[in-house]
Amino acid sequence: MSDVGPRRMLPELTDRTRFYWEGGRSGQLLILCCQRCGYYLHPPAPLCPVDHSTELAPERVSGRGRVASFTVDHHRWLPAPEPPYVIALVELAEQEALRLTTNIVGCPPEDVHIGMEVAVTFEHQADSEGRGDVWLPMFRPIGGAAGA
Ligand SMILES: [Zn+2]
Repeated sequence: MSDVGPRRMLPELTDRTRFYWEGGRSGQLLILCCQRCGYYLHPPAPLCPVDHSTELAPERVSGRGRVASFTVDHHRWLPAPEPPYVIALVELAEQEALRLTTNIVGCPPEDVHIGMEVAVTFEHQADSEGRGDVWLPMFRPIGGAAGA
């Protein structure tokens, strides 16, 4: 259990989102992808906005991206994470405007900047309410210290 992080507010798992929260079990960031045109959808939706196909399946993405915007939260709303912490929109390398709401970890909040290159990392949260373990996708700077 030593790899289990502090208790955070956990996502609701549904049939439509479960793959996203469980991909970290095997170290994979999975994003729903249209099997007809290759468009990535996030958050998951029942049909592709481009060609309205319902042939959608989770696909592994690189886990690389850039910080598109962020805010530093200094307030303690929840037992975890410890403030201050960074809430960010990360745009994935795979597709323009493919953005995830996430946390930036592995560097001081003051080092985070827009355009910073980041890679996915996962925080394992063990099941406590009978809905299954989750692996929260978070992002850390590529190459350790973020030199601007
Ligand atoms: Zn499509």
